[in-house]
Amino acid sequence: MKILVINCGSSSLKYQVFDMDNESVLAKGLVERIGIDGSRLKHTKIGMDAVVTEAAIPDHKVAVDLVLKSLLDAKVGVLKSLDELGAVGHRVVHGGEEFASSVKITPAVMNALKRCAPLAPLHNPANIIGIEAITAALPSVPQVGVFDTAFHQTMPDYAFRYAVPERYYKEDHVRRYGFHGTSHRFVSARCAEILGRPIEELKIITCHLGNGSSLAAVAHGKVVDTSMGFTPLPGVVMGTRCGDVDPSVVTFIAQREGAEKTDTILNKESGLFGVSGVSADLRDVEEGMNKGDAKCALAYKMLTYSVKKYIGAYAAAMGGVDAIVFTAGIGENSATTRQMVTEGLEFLGVKMDYSKNNFRGEERVISAPDSKVKVIVIPTNEELVIARDTKKMAF
Ligand code: ADP
Repeated sequence: MKILVINCGSSSLKYQVFDMDNESVLAKGLVERIGIDGSRLKHTKIGMDAVVTEAAIPDHKVAVDLVLKSLLDAKVGVLKSLDELGAVGHRVVHGGEEFASSVKITPAVMNALKRCAPLAPLHNPANIIGIEAITAALPSVPQVGVFDTAFHQTMPDYAFRYAVPERYYKEDHVRRYGFHGTSHRFVSARCAEILGRPIEELKIITCHLGNGSSLAAVAHGKVVDTSMGFTPLPGVVMGTRCGDVDPSVVTFIAQREGAEKTDTILNKESGLFGVSGVSADLRDVEEGMNKGDAKCALAYKMLTYSVKKYIGAYAAAMGGVDAIVFTAGIGENSATTRQMVTEGLEFLGVKMDYSKNNFRGEERVISAPDSKVKVIVIPTNEELVIARDTKKMAF
């Protein structure tokens, strides 16, 4: 069976086609600048060069039609007929408290998604538009929604509630939700496989470190805490997001700049970018640090220190830790980050072998063979999780 996986942003649409008989990717692509001048589709049939199509793409419906046309193309397509598509899976950012697992899309689910939209105003409306565009193009193909928040729904109330008046939780749903759940789920399950032990026996800290970053404490297969919250802004230092700050810093900046500008400052002008003054990309910050730039060195230290603090906190929250997993753009690729985060964790039972750490983008155990806590790099694969859930839930 072939499954199309879609990840819709406000002006973009990423996709992959899987052959679920062997879980291989047949084609993938990206539509950029939807509704903006210069829109284009970049489509790759696996094993061939990417093909770029420049076209006016005013909305997601046109984007979906263009993607389906590429999938049927005689040269770069991977389908003879759209009937070969068994189902379509969508990444949906926010499932609120309504969704603790993936679901088949129905009219009732669409209504629930619309109820969750105010919780993720930048993301959920785009996800809904993507589902509606597929419904219009492929009315008889089942669709499944896979939520970034779902895996975190197992958190206990004392971890997900904020100590603000209860009415904000009861009436406005203000609580910790957490994000990157699909990634935390994938790498924690894979970690158990690598260790050859049932996940129910393990206490795992998963570090998803990319442009956006979050950690999760996964005890016995269930999330007990995670570093992002009501929104993807808190937690560790990120590319442009501030991570944890004293909430009074927010009111202080807001009194000066107004609420909307404050939101932009904390989401888009902070983090590595704000501290280094150079870039949101850790590669640039690392280059600056290596050339002796003090602000870059500080930004790097702040990021790795914030990750280390969360590891300590989550080891305490779970009463121990068996494995620490690094994943996503930084976790998979930055040996320096992995070293700076793990140095000094010997007291927890972490014994590193840094000679095994100097690589990028592979699955590998980087702790010493006699380390009590295993430290593992696992490339994440959120699209594969979405494809698997879609196969399971669509019928
Ligand atoms: P997103 O959150 O947008 O999905 P990714 O998981 O793709 O982000 O991570 C992107 C980030 O990974 C980049 O901004 C960059 O900082 C970091 N990164 C990628 N490769 C390297 C590398 N070799 N060294 C350090 N950082 C890297």
